[in-house]
Amino acid sequence: MTLSPCRPGHHPLWRTGLLCLLLGVLAPAAATDEFARQRAQLTQEVAEQARHARHALPPAGFDAAVLAALGKVPRHEFVPPERRAQAYANRPLPIGHGQTISQPFIVALMTQLLELKGDENVLEIGTGSGYHAAFLAERARRVHSVEIIAPLAREAEARLRRLGYDRVEVRLGDGYYGWKERGPFDAIVVTAAADHVPPPLVAQLKPGGRMVIPVGAPFLTQELVLLRKERDGRVTQREILPVAFVPLTGGPAR
Ligand code: SAH
Repeated sequence: MTLSPCRPGHHPLWRTGLLCLLLGVLAPAAATDEFARQRAQLTQEVAEQARHARHALPPAGFDAAVLAALGKVPRHEFVPPERRAQAYANRPLPIGHGQTISQPFIVALMTQLLELKGDENVLEIGTGSGYHAAFLAERARRVHSVEIIAPLAREAEARLRRLGYDRVEVRLGDGYYGWKERGPFDAIVVTAAADHVPPPLVAQLKPGGRMVIPVGAPFLTQELVLLRKERDGRVTQREILPVAFVPLTGGPAR
């Protein structure tokens, strides 16, 4: 049987109308439930993966609040429509312009390492799809995110507005230089790989603040580095685990 209830045909109007209404309400609700189920499954997989990466995480693994963000942020809204079916696979996905949305495990890990309590002013470099910014907004008071590719910045900004992430502010610009007017920051996360830690970012970090950044040669594996600015201004660094990120472009001409 072909079902085309939404085209007015020979059915009495009230019947087609009712069917349209039912499908209009039930079909999206069913899809929403399916995505929620996939998110719950992803949350479980990431928590499981944490057991194999104990050295990278606190002894108790992920905070419940970080796992809750995985179960809440609608990743399918941040990937291109043709990738929606894979949105909740625990891997990176292309988002156009040669860029990728990071693997959920890595998003959770980077967020965990920042030790957010909920009242922080956070800077993200590399907005991309806006997923990680939304994720951070679940854990912090304000998120400022800088993106260097204009269409990505524009689309992420519109997407975050549409989804109600009002505590995220996106700016088009070169994130190598941070966002001085919105600083200093309690936490900084860089989601593209640099061959050195940009000094302007260290300068915009508050004493006691933390930064997570992949450091290493572009197009090879890099090392995820956790940097801490001590209360006396000294900077300490710890290597967490090998990662593969797209390169951080911009910065001073070499
Ligand atoms: N956090 C993103 C994934 C980022 S991919 C997400 O959740 O989807 C890395 C992003 O960094 C890309 O969008 C790339 O354009 C951006 N980028 C690279 N160099 C940059 C720079 N100097 N300043 C700002 N963004 C930069």
